[in-house]
Amino acid sequence: MRLTVIGTGYLGATHAACMAELGHDVLGVDVDPEKVAALSAGRVPFHEPGLPELVAKHTASGRLRFTTSFAEAGAFGEVHFVCVGTPQRADSGAADLRHVDAAFAALAAHAAPGALVVGKSTVPVGTAQRLARNHATEVAWNPEFLREGFAVEDTLRPDRLVFGVESARAETVLRAVYAPVLAAGTPLVTADFPTAELVKTAANAFLATKISFINAMAEVCEAAGGDVRTLAEALGHDDRIGPKFLRAGIGFGGGCLPKDIRAFAHRADELGVPLTFLREVDAINMRRRDRVVELARELCGSDVRGARVTVLGAAFKPGSDDIRDSPALAVAARLRLEGADVTVHDPEAMDNARKAFPSLGYALGLEDALRGADLVLHLTEWPQFREIDPERAAALVARPRIVDGRGVLDPDRWAAAGWRFRALGTPAPA
Ligand code: NAD
Repeated sequence: MRLTVIGTGYLGATHAACMAELGHDVLGVDVDPEKVAALSAGRVPFHEPGLPELVAKHTASGRLRFTTSFAEAGAFGEVHFVCVGTPQRADSGAADLRHVDAAFAALAAHAAPGALVVGKSTVPVGTAQRLARNHATEVAWNPEFLREGFAVEDTLRPDRLVFGVESARAETVLRAVYAPVLAAGTPLVTADFPTAELVKTAANAFLATKISFINAMAEVCEAAGGDVRTLAEALGHDDRIGPKFLRAGIGFGGGCLPKDIRAFAHRADELGVPLTFLREVDAINMRRRDRVVELARELCGSDVRGARVTVLGAAFKPGSDDIRDSPALAVAARLRLEGADVTVHDPEAMDNARKAFPSLGYALGLEDALRGADLVLHLTEWPQFREIDPERAAALVARPRIVDGRGVLDPDRWAAAGWRFRALGTPAPA
């Protein structure tokens, strides 16, 4: 089939390449000419494992092309997937739908009669109905659940597909697009527009709540002298709870969960169904960043002024160079404001971090980052940080003091190597 993908960021570039991999002819469209030029040359302008290979393969085969022209997209596509950003508005927690509205308007002006426009962006419930009402083109909503770092795998082998459709034809078209994925046994849920939109926001709300739940338990453990790691392990053995997303730490960030739960709470208010617990989920999450700053002060003897602080991590999570609402960089920037001399190291996100936070210091190598540090903060869970040898690291730093903001380092091992070790929700090792 001939598909277009409107918006070629983290979601759209992945979707476009994966649709080509499924055998479709795909045209990616973006308003950013630099992104289009890079992708057209087979280069992915962000870090996503497996994606560069797919983009190179299909730009070379001719099955994947990119353009800035909606006229070209309209003439080409039988099905148009809208993957543009839906960031948080500057003036409230609501989603900013300007890009979605602009993409739908441009498609309405150019799409061929009979083309199907499929929204994939995460939007407040009610958006699909409004767009279907305002435009003559047929609309469907197919929310996306991919995780950065696993985006290709999640697109080609998703846990489930959700089709928000209001006609049998739209469902038939989407079944044809995803035929190989469905043939592999992927569960399909078809729904009306509001339900399809809500599946996505509800899934994110649930995940965020699970993380903030264990982080709230970490706060209680800190106050009561308990150990949240042991608590989480014991909770996770209960099948009804399960061990995933139950590790206490600095909390979630990124371009999705924080803005999506705020947008959901805002939309629920509008609908007269206030989801006040989501505001608490958000508040608990932000308090964990404060707690890491507090621990940093504590380890530096109440004040970080003049301390050389090494921050391990800049990406909001491992496997990505995405620094949107990164907890690691939020903490780094706070400590810099408090007068610390901060050096950041990340395996993939250094360029993005440097652009966004030019006043922080950066070290390209891990050993350079550690050398001479008065305090180390482990804030993004890259596997290479977990593999650091505490004894070797102790020989590099000026003062062996570390905060494990991700709850994955072995406190006893670090303490045995001479480190003052602190983590969230766990007592300091004896
Ligand atoms: P992004 O910022 O990386 O990409 C958005 C792209 O859309 C940019 O390249 C931008 O230039 C382009 N764009 C903006 N307006 C446009 C227009 N009118 N026409 C064409 N292109 C336009 O964002 P993203 O992370 O890919 O997220 C996109 C959507 O997908 C959001 O709604 C997000 O919530 C949702 N989503 C993201 C993920 C993820 O992990 N990143 C996962 C699931 C859902």
